[in-house]
Amino acid sequence: MIIIVGAGLSGLLIAYRLKQEGIPFKILEARSRIGGRINTVYGTNHTPVEMGATWFGEQHKDLRALLEELGIEYFEQYMEGTAFFQPFSTSPAESIQIPGQPSSYRISGGTSHLINTLYNKLDEKELLLNQSVKEIKFHNNSVQVITEQVFEGSKVVLAIPPKLWANNIFFEPKLQDNLMNIARQTHTWMEDSIKIALTYKQAFWQQEKLSGTLFSNTGPVTELYDHCDHERSKAALCGFINSSFKQLDSAVRRTKVIDQITSVFGEKAADFLDYEECIWSMEANTFIESEFALAPHQNNGHQIFRTSFFENKLLISSSEAASEFSGYMEGAVASANDTAKRIITSKLD
Ligand SMILES: Cc1cc2nc3c(=O)[nH]c(=O)nc-3n(C[C@H](O)[C@H](O)[C@H](O)COP(=O)(O)OP(=O)(O)OC[C@H]3O[C@@H](n4cnc5c(N)ncnc54)[C@H](O)[C@@H]3O)c2cc1C
Repeated sequence: MIIIVGAGLSGLLIAYRLKQEGIPFKILEARSRIGGRINTVYGTNHTPVEMGATWFGEQHKDLRALLEELGIEYFEQYMEGTAFFQPFSTSPAESIQIPGQPSSYRISGGTSHLINTLYNKLDEKELLLNQSVKEIKFHNNSVQVITEQVFEGSKVVLAIPPKLWANNIFFEPKLQDNLMNIARQTHTWMEDSIKIALTYKQAFWQQEKLSGTLFSNTGPVTELYDHCDHERSKAALCGFINSSFKQLDSAVRRTKVIDQITSVFGEKAADFLDYEECIWSMEANTFIESEFALAPHQNNGHQIFRTSFFENKLLISSSEAASEFSGYMEGAVASANDTAKRIITSKLD
């Protein structure tokens, strides 16, 4: 039995790969939902809006191969028409044309469609929610993974960001110091970002030949994009706000966001159906304060994460462990494929 810690993209894909080979496993997930940093929420009109991962590109080959394998469609980010740029708070937003850029894509039905498709390949009893792993004990021929309950396996896979396991899980025997030091200083991509989305009855910006794009130096919104669904039958705008706005009371923050968007896109922007937001630094199963200031992507893809420990009883996955595109969905897929392959070829379960 392989115990997988974390039901994000990486943990779920490892599970699916093991399932394909008939290798028994159990996933333990701390949250009451699956998906981790992927979380599509659905507004009044069932409009899918992304609180987490959204875009990928042509270069993300493993992710695109997985979507193809699972028969999941994707579509190009809508960027047609005029965009806005707010350089200063003292002057109105400027209309700009964004020069041709490589296309970016979104998953039809929302990014959680990928998560749910993987989950649906598993048996219900193979994944347990509300199981926060606190302790892992390595014995000669087995591993004990401890939440409020004790689970026994032959191997454990950490499919959670390194900074989280290094700080939140107690290992016995202790993990080697250099592994722990590197893990504690490994940046978790997007851990302190804030995402917001507004859903509408209609994409009024499209009718006005606007792309729905805004780049702003003034804030709170720093980036905003069209977020209609694949069919363009459900309308939304979605983007990021400056992380410092997390300090504000939620009603004040929401008012500031709406005021800014309305000042740029006009009064129609105030006539939204839903306002959604996610402050990732308030999510204990994603964010943890760093002991040292970390640069974006610091130690992401470090070679040490692709080493196994305790005679192959401990394997490390997650997007941050991938050698390429670490931090992104592509990294989570590549890391999961690689980890599953190492388990499958070792023939030890
Ligand atoms: C706001 C935001 C925007 C993003 N935008 C993009 C984008 O546009 N494109 C892109 O490619 N990527 C983007 N990303 C990054 C992308 O979401 C991640 O690379 C990917 O989802 C990571 O998957 P993972 O399985 O490695 O980790 P996670 O998704 O972090 O999954 C880890 C899982 O482990 C669980 N867990 C944590 N601790 C424990 C514990 N002690 N016990 C049990 N379970 C535990 C967590 O709850 C979680 O479910 C974004 C991320 C965020 C937050």
